[in-house]
Amino acid sequence: EVLVAGSANLDFVVRASHVPAPGETVLGRDFATFPGGKGANQAVACARAGGAQTRMLLGLGTDTFAEILEASLRDAQVGLHIVRCADRATGTAFICLSDDAENAITVAPGANEALRAEHLPDLAGIGHLLLQLETPLETVEAYARAARAAGVRAVLNAAPARALPAGLLQLIDVLIVNEGELAVVAGVRDGISAGLARIDVPCVIVTMGARGCCARTGDGLLLQPAFEVDAVDTTAAGDTFCGTLVAALGRGEPMADALREASAASALACTRLGAQSSVPTRAEVAALMAS
Ligand code: ADP
Repeated sequence: EVLVAGSANLDFVVRASHVPAPGETVLGRDFATFPGGKGANQAVACARAGGAQTRMLLGLGTDTFAEILEASLRDAQVGLHIVRCADRATGTAFICLSDDAENAITVAPGANEALRAEHLPDLAGIGHLLLQLETPLETVEAYARAARAAGVRAVLNAAPARALPAGLLQLIDVLIVNEGELAVVAGVRDGISAGLARIDVPCVIVTMGARGCCARTGDGLLLQPAFEVDAVDTTAAGDTFCGTLVAALGRGEPMADALREASAASALACTRLGAQSSVPTRAEVAALMAS
């Protein structure tokens, strides 16, 4: 089984000609809400990728947004461990999406901030624990420490980008970052190989958008080109990548195969609007890989 511990946010998305500058008001166009949050997106991607059972530990408020997020996760067959907070709003994200596919995002974390070390469920039966950085850093570290103690492989998607204490990195088995996150975590901006050389984690995967991804493993460097698609919204591409990768690793796939499956799933996610709603099924991913 896979346990995802992380955030759930309701995304409020408005499309506009451009992202507003400070002090500017932009008249946008269509508006929609989508279930999102890095943790929940990755849990949905993991569950859709199938194989093992996926469970998620998350914090929610008592408002109607919580019901929408819970329903989306249950629809995807994710087993839920909910920390219910009466005194905090459910997490929300305010997203402006421009016509040239740029975005500007403000997150109000709310109940995601309530996750604490003591909320982690028993790890019996869990093979992989998947973490991100939209929950408190000390909680992420406590969960990674518990995983190490229980013999569970800890996978960290270091997003949103922030510098990480060495004590946390030591507890991570697989680190997934995009190029910007790599620079922040490694503390250098001299390219991918310089960044990879500075990070002391057994396996580091770097995603590079339409240029694909690479992984530095104990056996050397793996490169996986992106699948060519017509991208309309890259929201949750990285999350789909992480969830699909961990599902494949949970099934015992070799890293090279897991990278290929994650690339196919995340490419398909780029062809659809939204976050959890854009995650493809395992059959759709298999069809793209066979084409
Ligand atoms: P993030 O969204 O976290 O910044 P990336 O942009 O690196 O992450 O995207 C994650 C993965 O999604 C990439 O490694 C790639 O496999 C896939 N992907 C992203 N953008 C595209 C695209 N335009 N076409 C095909 N695949 C893409």
